Amino acid sequence: MTTIQEVHKQSIDNPDAFWGEQARLVDWHKPFTQTLDFSRPPFAKWFVGGETNLCYNAVDRHAAKRPNDRALVYISTETDEEKVYSFAELQREVERMAAIMLGLGVGKGDRVLIYMPMIAEAAFAMLACARIGAIHSVVFGGFASGSLATRIDDAAPKLIVSSDAGMRGGKAVPYKHLLDEAINLAANKPAKVLMIDRGLDKGFNKVDGRDVDYATLRAQHMDAQVPVTWLESSEPSYIPYTSGTTGKPKGVQRDTGGYAVALASSMKNIFCGGEGETMFATSDIGWVVGHSYIIYGPLIAGMCTIMYEGTPLRPDAGIWWHIVEKYKVNVMFSAPTAARVLKKQDPAYMHKYDLSTLKHLFLAGEPLDQPTHEWIMGELKLPVIDNYWQTETGWPMLSQMPGIEQKPLKFGTPSFPVYGYNLKIFREDGSICDANEKGIVGIMPPLPPGCLSTVWGDDARFVSTYFSLFKEPQVYSSFDWGIRDEEGYHYILGRTDDVINVAGHRLGTREIEEAVQAHPAIAEVAVVGVADQVKGQMPMAFAVVKDAAKVATPELKQALEKEVMKKVDEILGAIARPGRVHFVTVLPKTRSGKLLRRSIQALAEGRDPGDLTTIEDPAALEQLKSALGA
Ligand code: ATP
Ligand code: MG
Repeated sequence: MTTIQEVHKQSIDNPDAFWGEQARLVDWHKPFTQTLDFSRPPFAKWFVGGETNLCYNAVDRHAAKRPNDRALVYISTETDEEKVYSFAELQREVERMAAIMLGLGVGKGDRVLIYMPMIAEAAFAMLACARIGAIHSVVFGGFASGSLATRIDDAAPKLIVSSDAGMRGGKAVPYKHLLDEAINLAANKPAKVLMIDRGLDKGFNKVDGRDVDYATLRAQHMDAQVPVTWLESSEPSYIPYTSGTTGKPKGVQRDTGGYAVALASSMKNIFCGGEGETMFATSDIGWVVGHSYIIYGPLIAGMCTIMYEGTPLRPDAGIWWHIVEKYKVNVMFSAPTAARVLKKQDPAYMHKYDLSTLKHLFLAGEPLDQPTHEWIMGELKLPVIDNYWQTETGWPMLSQMPGIEQKPLKFGTPSFPVYGYNLKIFREDGSICDANEKGIVGIMPPLPPGCLSTVWGDDARFVSTYFSLFKEPQVYSSFDWGIRDEEGYHYILGRTDDVINVAGHRLGTREIEEAVQAHPAIAEVAVVGVADQVKGQMPMAFAVVKDAAKVATPELKQALEKEVMKKVDEILGAIARPGRVHFVTVLPKTRSGKLLRRSIQALAEGRDPGDLTTIEDPAALEQLKSALGA
């Protein structure tokens, strides 16, 4: 039997042979002549000379063999719709959409910005772009006009595909006025806007000569046949923007061939999903997880993918598990934040359903704390796999790889470097850390297939942002702290700009959060460092309790605050003890579920919280302010 260490070593020692082999998982129109061209570091070109197409690999090749098998299931608990598309039907819809785009003047290399809710047409639009070689940039639906305008200006799209409204918690969230405002603000205005009218916002504004109606155009293209545009492997496929947790989002340029191979390989070796099986990733197409594991990954692997519009709690907290039972889901992907939401609900909702088809649950996007990990694994009775990656990398950097070998799971760690990633923990002088020594998570170049090829339109920014941590060696920086134990398990300790310096001791916010969360009354917590005259910085905690009764009176609050501090003393020592523990019912997060630590810290220090357009729930800020005022 092969071990994951052996596979990893092969991939690093002989990338040509390793990736050459993985490339067979993808159909090539023209074979590549060189596996890797690394003549201009840090720019890596994979599968040079090869021609392929993401849409062909995701749709056509399966439709040819298994036309009637399920490809995509669209479920909305917001509008009570449910629709199943076979591979043949998916291909037809994609060709219709592609014909519409061609008709609107979109061609190879043109950008198409997709600003849409989680509806099937969004998937058609992404795949249609891929089919004709247009470069899509999906912007999370419901982003305010300012965030949208920045991305419009950066991507300079010829066409924007949008919809009248999204839905959230049973209410329509109109998009069109936000889009109009954004286009107004933007310097690079699109020639056309293709509107998918869901009938949710009856009176939305239509701009003559610019806005066109999807249903009308679709009716004119019912029999459309649009041939695939073959792309050279390094030609760009799409541009996702990073979540913007640490500031202005970056446009990540993804290639075509490398990405297809990396995803196909990850489906087999990490996610254990194959032809005829079903995957349910609960993310949104606006995030990288949505690109890789709602759309391209499962479809390239010939799986059926589930696109879900709705929350995990409506109509009740059993909805995800109902979907798992109904569609016999084999692979599930979600985020720790969702697991924590479910943890506050009655687990009976989970046990009502037959989950026996489910092999694994993968969680990524932020630290997975031990109590949550332990809880959900105990309830589901299956491996729950923490995996670590970034928009930039497009697929996991650290993970278990059960498709190769199932290693014992440990809590609090996304485990091992994935093959292809020569991932190391670095000291600040560029040398490599020993086991159990904290440092910066970096990747020795070349970056493996699938990772960003550059920053959109700005090669210099790519090099200066990601590769200038040390003079020597030239290493890709993740901007995350990490540690590796003697057994090779890696822990992520927070972002490099999330360090709290208490009297010269550098503490990761993550470590303190873990300690606070070890207290059984705490559901969730954010720790930030606030300026302190004596110690330089002092940790401050904002915690959500599982049971509001525990903090119903000032006395109870005080008592719990003391207990939490004691817990931190026990686990990390008094040096890490938060100066205050404030109790709130919701924490400020980005719409992708990441804590907005910068803003929390700014508020805690009495400063302006900065750009908040990506915030999920503005009420969270009000709570923070009143907690601080108390
Ligand atoms: P920006 O780069 O614009 O500030 P962002 O980093 O939040 O935004 P993403 O690419 O969506 O944008 O998030 C990647 C980051 O999320 C990682 O660098 C890491 O900090 C965090 N992360 C992802 N998965 C995990 C995980 N399993 N454990 C701990 N942290 C994780
Ligand atoms: Mg980032």
